[in-house]
Amino acid sequence: MNGTLITVAPTGAESAKADVPALPCTIDELVSTAKSCQAAGAAVIHVHVRDDDAQPTLDIGRVSAAVEAVREATDLVVQVSSGGAVTDSYDARIGVLDSNPDGASLTCGTVNFGADVFMNPLDLIERLYLAMREREIVPEFELFDLGHVTTMRRLLDKHGAPYGGHVHCDLVMGVPGGMPGTVPALTAAVQALPDGATWSATGVGRTTVPVMLAALAAGGHLRVGMEDTLTFAPGRAVRDNAELVERAATLADLALRPPLTPDEAREMLGIKDRRRLTQKATETGAR
Ligand SMILES: [Zn+2]
Repeated sequence: MNGTLITVAPTGAESAKADVPALPCTIDELVSTAKSCQAAGAAVIHVHVRDDDAQPTLDIGRVSAAVEAVREATDLVVQVSSGGAVTDSYDARIGVLDSNPDGASLTCGTVNFGADVFMNPLDLIERLYLAMREREIVPEFELFDLGHVTTMRRLLDKHGAPYGGHVHCDLVMGVPGGMPGTVPALTAAVQALPDGATWSATGVGRTTVPVMLAALAAGGHLRVGMEDTLTFAPGRAVRDNAELVERAATLADLALRPPLTPDEAREMLGIKDRRRLTQKATETGAR
């Protein structure tokens, strides 16, 4: 497909609502963000859920409600984070897969997040991978470093293809502790990916725009959002997530690779369409 897949990551687990009032934290805020981002060109939403105090949570009831609400209100592919926050237990991170998402992120190695450590030992990666396949969830391999590409390849060699049969990765660049958001780093990571894989790139903080331009030029896809960037330009805070998606969509159009629709994204990624299944279950239940 010649178009550009745009994923929005609107919330994350790192920023505080008190510091960033525009961060979508309630389910209503998440749904209205999802709608405006779909209208602006997003096809996939990467979801982190917050509790009543706007703190990150993996509470399964809350996450399931968020997945269902976004699916009800939009056509977006709904991807949950299996990374959670750096303080979450491994069992809770696996448990989040019971929220019936279309996809889930799967981070392929441990990373220093400033002073924190985002732990991803190999046995957890394998457990998450197999749990996703069992539930017909499509993984997005999150790669913060070149070594994570190696781990992903070893995982695929040992366990075979993911649900849907297609490998899609996200290069997360510019995190202090991960690979830098530079063209040489992007090129090295892309060259190491398996044949037939597709990839998005995310530049955190000030690497957002250069990584976006490099990814478009190299035939990649884009992930943007307030999980990764809170500054639109030097000295100017991001207004909302839709503005970041609009900028990505404008650049994709300029690159003559316009944004993919959610249905085109489903086809490319091998996503099971749960919208019809949900509707069918509701109809059957009504009878
Ligand atoms: Zn995330």
